[in-house]
Amino acid sequence: MKLFNLSRDFAVDLGTANTLIMHEDKIVVNEPSIVAFDVFKNKVIAVGFEAMNMHEKTHQNIKTVKPLRDGVIADYHAAEEMIKGMLSKALIKQGFGIGAKRFVICIPYATTEVEKRAVRDSAQHVGATEVYMIHEPIAAALGIGLDITAPTGWMVVDIGGGTTEIVVISLSGVVCNQSVKIAGNAFDLDIIDYMRRQHNLMIGERTAEKIKVEVGSAVHDLDNPPQPYRVLGRDLITGIPKAINIGHEEIATVLDKNVSKIEEAVLKALEECPPELSADIYENGIYLTGGGAYLRGLDKRLSKATQLKINIAAEPLLAVMRGTGKALKDLPKFREVLMR
Ligand code: ADP
Ligand code: MG
Repeated sequence: MKLFNLSRDFAVDLGTANTLIMHEDKIVVNEPSIVAFDVFKNKVIAVGFEAMNMHEKTHQNIKTVKPLRDGVIADYHAAEEMIKGMLSKALIKQGFGIGAKRFVICIPYATTEVEKRAVRDSAQHVGATEVYMIHEPIAAALGIGLDITAPTGWMVVDIGGGTTEIVVISLSGVVCNQSVKIAGNAFDLDIIDYMRRQHNLMIGERTAEKIKVEVGSAVHDLDNPPQPYRVLGRDLITGIPKAINIGHEEIATVLDKNVSKIEEAVLKALEECPPELSADIYENGIYLTGGGAYLRGLDKRLSKATQLKINIAAEPLLAVMRGTGKALKDLPKFREVLMR
């Protein structure tokens, strides 16, 4: 397709951990939600992967910020810089300068009006003329192919970096929802804390995340347990680097408390659900999306707690992006779930 035939429409998944941008059905940006600043000049020096590589390895002149850390915009200035930086990357990659553009941007369910304005402003600063927003869990449902416009109840549990969002959707709307600030980041912090207390080992966030991905688990008894993982860190007592092996059982114990909190939130959402929709959920089961859906044994835990079928999305990290892309392609059909 020739460049001048390309649409100027972009879909954006603004996640607490990862930001994705889609153009013409292609994901053109998929990078961590982080910005690096020069502290003295107060200038952005890197966005996304490049900034992530600097994270926890900076000196006094450089600061890295994850602007959406707690599921809401924690740092407006950084958020705006990040959104602008990511959008610019997408525009440059697809060969566009500043010009008339339409954006559909996905935002957490709990986003306030002030935060929405900040998101809209950032998009307008890179030349957007039309900005629509869609709630994350709705986009997740769309992305995994659920017919959200039908008079059917669907329960989606989206476990991202900062928050776990649980919603029941029917007729293009959210019927009930629960949101807890426990998700991927909280698991990472649990692991950091445990390694320090139990093994006298200081590790950073990135190592903790790596442990979670390599040997993370929500249960002790896994059908396909992973090999133990070799962790490198700094010994708290001697101060010198050391290595230890960690297995999934250990991490299952570490994550147990926070996994239980997610379980409780799911149970609460089920309790608050109107009975006709409960019947639908009984038939359809619960759908897991977001990076947290990859946590080993989480489906087992949730099905034991709820006695329901748990469906893990095929590519959970892409569900929200795909759904936002679908909404962008058919704005009239999804007007009820799009906000200006
Ligand atoms: P957000 O929408 O908030 O940006 P994502 O849906 O992109 O979040 O999920 C990111 C979270 O998923 C991170 O905390 C990341 O560590 C976690 N994650 C990614 N892959 C895995 C995995 N294989 N096992 C467990 N957690 C994972
Ligand atoms: Mg997300």
